[in-house]
This record gives sequence, structure tokens and C-alpha cells, in this order.
Amino acid sequence: EKIPLQRIDPFLWRIPASYQEGMRVPGVVYADDELIQQILDDNALQQVANVATLPGIVGYSLGMPDIHWGYGFPVGGVAATDAETGVVSPGGIGFDINCGVRLMATELVRDQIRGQVEKLADALFKALPSGVGGAGMRELTTHEMRDVMVQGAAWAVEDGYGFEEDLEVTEEHGCLAGADPDKVSPMAMQRGRKQLGSLGSGNHFAEVQYVEHIYDQAAAEAMGIGQVGQIVVTIHCGSRGFGHQIAEDYIKLAEVKQAGYGFKLVDRQLACLPLQSDEGKAYLAAMACGANFAWANRQLLMHGVRLAFSSVFGRKARAKEMPLVYDVCHNIAKIEEYEVDGQKRWVCVHRKGATRAFPPQHPALPERYRSIGQPVLIPGDMGRYSFVLAGAQGSMEQSFGSCCHGAGRRQSRTAAKKSISPRDLLDQLAARGVTIRVHSKSLLTEEAPTAYKDAQKIVDVVHNAGLAQLVVRLKPVIVVKG
Ligand code: 5GP
Ligand code: MN
Ligand code: MN
Repeated sequence: EKIPLQRIDPFLWRIPASYQEGMRVPGVVYADDELIQQILDDNALQQVANVATLPGIVGYSLGMPDIHWGYGFPVGGVAATDAETGVVSPGGIGFDINCGVRLMATELVRDQIRGQVEKLADALFKALPSGVGGAGMRELTTHEMRDVMVQGAAWAVEDGYGFEEDLEVTEEHGCLAGADPDKVSPMAMQRGRKQLGSLGSGNHFAEVQYVEHIYDQAAAEAMGIGQVGQIVVTIHCGSRGFGHQIAEDYIKLAEVKQAGYGFKLVDRQLACLPLQSDEGKAYLAAMACGANFAWANRQLLMHGVRLAFSSVFGRKARAKEMPLVYDVCHNIAKIEEYEVDGQKRWVCVHRKGATRAFPPQHPALPERYRSIGQPVLIPGDMGRYSFVLAGAQGSMEQSFGSCCHGAGRRQSRTAAKKSISPRDLLDQLAARGVTIRVHSKSLLTEEAPTAYKDAQKIVDVVHNAGLAQLVVRLKPVIVVKG
């Protein structure tokens, strides 16, 4: 059946609740004319409508412009459920719990790294363990593993990976409250113990970039990235096999429990747990463990990047001269308060392939960003560009404090793989001046720039819709991939 879309304005579309039986709220999707066509080619809008049937969902089921097909929920989806009467759906967080992005600044500019690019690429590749199921920088004892699950990034800082200041500019200070290691399976623990400080494979990366264009000079300066030509580093990674196992365990539990709850779900992948049930609480406690592991993981990876830079540039790139700008998660559920239909309500915001985008003056922001809004980090692809935005007031009014998380796929992994050979892709990237180090050449083609939508179009939509404001555009120089 064709999905009836109502146009609300140039960047906003609506799926009426009458479209499908069981929808409790309408769907809304952010896209321009061109993107909406790409989105319709995928089946992701059906998933937006499916999510609208979740018990306790409030407001609307949202799709961001980078939306594409995912497990149960679309990637690029946002849904808020009533914290008292609603549910949490593990598939609405995704398999890579707290997959996220961090951005570091440097004092270097393009000219200063020109002759050193190959050397720096080698140093980064050596410093950042990668590959499917590969071991990380730090093997943990069971006791240490429990500490990581509860303390998150702070554990890593205490263990010598980075500084207190890093925590200030990490979402939630790198630690989600309520983590309970007893709610995590031994199997998940086992997988996690060996993987802290590892990049993994495929879409996860560390990328050296330069500031190519500044949209908002004042905001860029507040973030310490206000110079055209300045070198910065983006890290994209999550909770590795640990979070994946937690997701698997709780999706299984939710499936087993479903019949007893008596919900009528339109897709079994939406399996969910009442937030106030023991099982729902257990999932959130385990999810927090996964999230905290991911923050510690990105903290170790950042340490690896700092070591690699200082090994090549010495005093010009000491660790303290490579400050963290910000760290965001884009696969997470958070209990937050919003005004819905004129009433303040506590809700569980599912952000799956969606970034928090809190506006200026939001109390959750560090002092440094109070006047400009939260840095919103949007990777694009390894050939074209990536973006930094700042959260805007519209996100509080329209999207439960959220916006897009990337360019979003336009081709499946298999289709991408068929469309280009590793050799041709490497040649194309070299022609663009991008240096690549990759663990698996065959996985690289799944991540070809042509596999993704044009990130510029995505960020233009969220900017124009008032969810976040453009700050800078970044161009890739070195990409290290799993
Ligand atoms: P996801 O978390 O959905 O796997 O990926 C987030 C986003 O990262 C994707 O939507 C895509 O836009 C972006 N991305 C994937 N690979 C790369 C890369 O190598 N470099 C950059 N800059 N972005 C990438
Ligand atoms: Mn991920
Ligand atoms: Mn991700």
C-alpha cells in the first residue's frame, strides 16, 4: 500500500494516523522534495507508521532526513513514550548501544601536516585496533569490566586515558545513571572484556579532517574550531560486541514476554517492555552499561589518536593541545521532560540513528556551550564532507530535542558492494586527496560515498527546519576504517 503523505511545509511531511490500524499518533518526516523521493524508495516510512503503534507513544513518530530501513525502528527515527505508562523497545535503540561520534580539535592547520600524511595515517592505523571481533587496547578483568559499566568515560580518565576536561564536553559526562552490571549477561561481559579501545569494522572510523567552510564564526570559535584550514579529528564508534550482546539478550526477552503483555504489535521486531515493569527497568539498566562502555571505548580511542599525533608532530600536538570539542550518542533511550499538547510530561526518548540537539540555555549543556547550543556532530561520508551544527530551539518544540545523525544510507551494503570494486574506490578517494587505511578492503566498498545520501542536503533540511544550526563543514584528509 502506498503511504499517504501530507505536506506540512517545504521540509516537513505527515503520515496521518488513519493510514494504518493501531497508529496512536501521526508520523512526521523531515525531508525536502528530492530526499522524500529517496525515502519513499526505501520502506522506512512504513516503519515510521509501525512505530506510531507503540503503547504509550506521545506526540508523533518522527523520521529524520537521513532515515533508512532498520531493525523494527528505522535508522534516523525518534519516538517518545510516556515514562509511566509507555514501553521501551530495544530495537528502537539498536544493536550498537550508544554508537556515537566525538570530535577533537588541534592547533595544526593543513599546511603543517602536508608532508606527514602517510606517516600520520600509519601511526593512527597502528594506534587504533580494528577488525570484526578484534581485541582492543585494554583487556579488562571482570572487576574492571563492572567498573567500566558503571562509571563510563570517567573510568578511562582515571585509568590514564585522557583528562577530566574531556568529561565536561561528553554527553551525560560520559556516564548514564542507573547502570546495573547484574542485568548484563555473562556472555555480554565476556565479549566486552576484550574489546575496550577498539574501532571494530565497516562504518566505524577515525577521520582526520580540515575545516573547509565556516557558517557561524561565533559558534565555531566557542567550539575551538573557528579557523579555516584547521585540522580536527572525528571518531565514530560504539559499544562493540558488548552492546550488541545486550541488545540481542533483551530483544529475545521482549519477544518471549510479548504474548503476556497482550499488545498488538504490527511487527514482531517492535517487541517492547513496559517501562515500569521489572523487565523494562532491567533493559534500561543494562542499556546504561552498554552506553557507559561505549563512552569509555571512545575515550580510549581518542587517547590513541592523541598518542599518534604527538608521535608525528611532537610538541605541536601534545594531548592537551588536542581538546575534545564534544561527544554525542546517536543510539540511545533517555528519560527527559517535554511539553506535549500543552502539558509537561516525562518521556522515554528513543533516538535510533538520531542525535540529541539541545538548544542554547539548556541546563544539560556545559557552561561553555550554554550560549550557542549543543554541538551536533554529523558525519557525512569518507569522500565528500561532514558537518558540525549547534542545537536550536526548534528541536525542543518539534523533535524531542533531536535531529539527524549522518547522511544515511541510500544503498544497502550488498548493493554498494556490487557497485564498485575496492581498487576503483581507493583510486577515486586518492584522486580526491583522501588517504585511507583500512582493515578489510572488501568492507570498505560497503561504505563508498555513493552508498550514502548527500550529507549537505540532510543538514540543510534540519537547519531550515530549525532543529539545529549549521556551524562548520569538514573535509576528509585521512580515514582509518575497520
Ligand atoms: P551509522 O551510525 O548509521 O552507521 O553511521 C552514521 C553516519 O556516518 C552514516 O549515516 C554516514 O553518513 C556516516 N559515515 C559512514 N562512514 C563514514 C566515513 O568513513 N566518514 C564519514 N565522515 N562519515 C561516514
Ligand atoms: Mn555503530
Ligand atoms: Mn553510528
